[in-house]
Amino acid sequence: MTDRYLELVNSGLTQKLAQQLGLPRPAVLRRHRPGQPLLDGPALVLGSGPDADALASLLSSPAGGATPTGDAPAVLDGWDLEVHRHASPDVRYAAVVLVLTDVEHPDDLMAPVLAAASTLKGLRRGGRVVTVSRPALDSDAPAVAAARQGVDGLLRSLAKELRNGATGNGVVVAQDVAVTAPSVVAALRFFLSARSAFVDGQLLEVDSDAGELPTDWDKPLAGRVAVVTGAARGIGASIADVLARDGATVVAVDVPAAGEQLVQVANRVRGTALQLDVTAPDAGERILEHARSRHGRLDIVVHNAGITRDKLLANMSDDKWASVLAVNIASQLRINEALLTSGDFVDAPRIVSLASTSGIAGNRGQTNYAASKGGVIGMVRATAPLLVPFGGTANAVAPGFIETEMTARIPAVTRQVARRLNSLQQGGLPVDVAEAIAFLASPAAGGVVGRTLRVCGQNMVGR
Ligand code: NAD
Repeated sequence: MTDRYLELVNSGLTQKLAQQLGLPRPAVLRRHRPGQPLLDGPALVLGSGPDADALASLLSSPAGGATPTGDAPAVLDGWDLEVHRHASPDVRYAAVVLVLTDVEHPDDLMAPVLAAASTLKGLRRGGRVVTVSRPALDSDAPAVAAARQGVDGLLRSLAKELRNGATGNGVVVAQDVAVTAPSVVAALRFFLSARSAFVDGQLLEVDSDAGELPTDWDKPLAGRVAVVTGAARGIGASIADVLARDGATVVAVDVPAAGEQLVQVANRVRGTALQLDVTAPDAGERILEHARSRHGRLDIVVHNAGITRDKLLANMSDDKWASVLAVNIASQLRINEALLTSGDFVDAPRIVSLASTSGIAGNRGQTNYAASKGGVIGMVRATAPLLVPFGGTANAVAPGFIETEMTARIPAVTRQVARRLNSLQQGGLPVDVAEAIAFLASPAAGGVVGRTLRVCGQNMVGR
């Protein structure tokens, strides 16, 4: 599915016309290509104190050269970026990292935030603003909680002000976790990189210092075996591509009716195909058996298979309700149960499930779908603690409007409106969802536990 409007406002005469008429001009987003530099310009790290120093050191040091302070590992692989510590009006930054972990009163926000403000008009195309902060807890002193929660409101508002494909996101680091913990570092890198092109206005919590940084940031899934359900087309096929690109061996799963497309995907990613309806009672056992016998192990399961059967609740049939719940959530519960009791899913395993913004904000005509996708969000929260003893995690990704065959079926006018209703004024691509899944599936993301990350360009509905 192509977005003709986006193409027109970014080319030749029609670009000028759109400018003159003051029409919305969604930017062509910069997307990840292996080997490309993390940023295409200097980064500004704002904030005083040891956390800001440690992150500035990580960003600026050459590979193997960062020696952060605090309880962090002795040496981190530096990212060799040009890093500034004070905003300069003459520099066009590619990224601004706002380290706000030490704020204790709302007054503390002003200096770093307004220093960031002075750079925004010159921020490069596809620029990044990333906050690093602590969560506001009920046990905090009221002023501390106010300052910390203030970061949430400010980041979400700032993201709505950015233009030219720039995004604003935040990493919220649990109180006893160092800012140099693997998942903080990996989340910061994900948000700075082109991998997060369609993630905007989101704050991702890092709950623990579990996880392991990759030796090669272009192959973070090397040696891992991943199963992707619903992989014959759409987002699932893209997930298979991205996981394989990142080094994983992929088992592509889909219904027998999609067998031909499935084999094409499996061949493309040099993986294997498994024809299977995920609602089969023994789906979990068959997935495990296939992965073990063909690839020797199973580390990652991506529950992507999903269907819609939209109807207003007043007109909902038993069949439409039951089939959506069966595919989108009951199958995942049953497969997870089989994996968890097998004793063979224990080496830092990762479960990543597809939720949806409909499951967060609700959507007219989608009570069945939203019940299933809200269910996914609850399921990963409750499943994650069961995996923690093995260094495992369960998380979800909630896409907003993504250009696929599923959304191509939406009537034309509704589709045009739906794809513009976010800060980036366009629909995401399947690859955008896949990149977020690859991040959550990586060994480095071991400290992100039971969370749901939205990939929605900061959709106007819901948080
Ligand atoms: P799609 O319809 O293009 O692809 C879904 C795939 O799942 C198909 O290949 C289908 O054959 C497979 N599938 C369906 N039932 C199955 C079953 N019982 N067993 C095995 N495979 C089965 O959908 P998509 O747009 O690529 O969506 C993928 C996931 O992302 C879904 O979970 C969907 O709910 C979610 N999602 C999509 C969007 C979007 O905008 N496209 C937004 C939010 C969430």
